[in-house]
Amino acid sequence: MMQSLRRILLMFTAACAVNPTVAQTPDAAKQQKIILPTTNNHIFTGEGDKFYMYVHRNFEGVASKPWTAGKYGFVRNLKRTEDGVIGTRFHEGIDIKPLNRDRSNNPLDEIKAIAAGTVAYVNSSSSRSNYGKYVVIEHLWDCGPIYSLYAHLSNVSAKPGERVVQGQMIGQMGYTGAGLNRERSHLHLELNLMMNEQFTQWHNKHLGGKNYHGMHNGMNMAGLDIAAFYIAQKRDPSLTLPRFVRTQPVYYKVTLPRAVDGKTMCILRRYPWLTQGTEKAKSPSWEISFTASGFPVAIVPSQRVVQSPRISSVRKCRSKHSYHTKGFVIGTGYRASLSDRGKRFIELLTGSFESDGGTE
Ligand SMILES: [Zn+2]
Repeated sequence: MMQSLRRILLMFTAACAVNPTVAQTPDAAKQQKIILPTTNNHIFTGEGDKFYMYVHRNFEGVASKPWTAGKYGFVRNLKRTEDGVIGTRFHEGIDIKPLNRDRSNNPLDEIKAIAAGTVAYVNSSSSRSNYGKYVVIEHLWDCGPIYSLYAHLSNVSAKPGERVVQGQMIGQMGYTGAGLNRERSHLHLELNLMMNEQFTQWHNKHLGGKNYHGMHNGMNMAGLDIAAFYIAQKRDPSLTLPRFVRTQPVYYKVTLPRAVDGKTMCILRRYPWLTQGTEKAKSPSWEISFTASGFPVAIVPSQRVVQSPRISSVRKCRSKHSYHTKGFVIGTGYRASLSDRGKRFIELLTGSFESDGGTE
């Protein structure tokens, strides 16, 4: 037990210590310039149907194959609500269509690293994840470790620990994972912040069962709107990830007490730019701004005194907040609170579960 605690602590210290934030330089911006992972570049031509892979949909008895369901965001599981027809299931990445197939319709597209980095994780077992065979590459940018994730591969050529340059082939497109067939072969691509190095502890406490993927489980990754990032970088090649994140729409804010022992949240040690320089300000609490999907946009000191995480602001909508927030927020209009799922999510993000097992 002590042994494993020590190991976790070492992992924690190592992963948190690697990336001091330094001032943005032109080189730093260049380093953060991402390229497309396949030769499909229709994201830039405005032909979404050629870029995104469709899903099979049956909504209110009407079958369709919308390519828009391959986009990032709340694009799946439509529901008719007081706010009109909305997608209630979040898609954390983008599904890129193959451009080349063999005679048997297998995709032939090579998958390339979108930026230089180190292969942090390879899952070679199709059955152990909804992502099928997938690769995670760690990019040690000056804004902290960022993770690109490439899923549903037919085979992986990259090896764990291998350094890769931008554009280096890491595998081949496929259709491994849940709910896919040969026709719907695609690359699922994400660009993520890592939520917590102690994901395994959180997983054991709340979910149980076997976690095959350690910290590189998709549940421990907060995916940003990578399609919007590609398009914004096309317009402004010097755009950095922190600057992009600050433009993302906020859906709700959560106020939570600072750790009693004065420890900084681990996510802030990895991504101190989230505080926009206000980390040291004395305050009893933090306020975290989230997009609808729970991506943290900003973390600022708050003078409000709270005993446990609470919603302090929410976007107004007529339908249930749970439809818009992956079920993390419940209520309607200005009435909103964290669901049990939402509380568990805040625990994962802030790491507060590590001290006494509670959120209080
Ligand atoms: Zn996908």
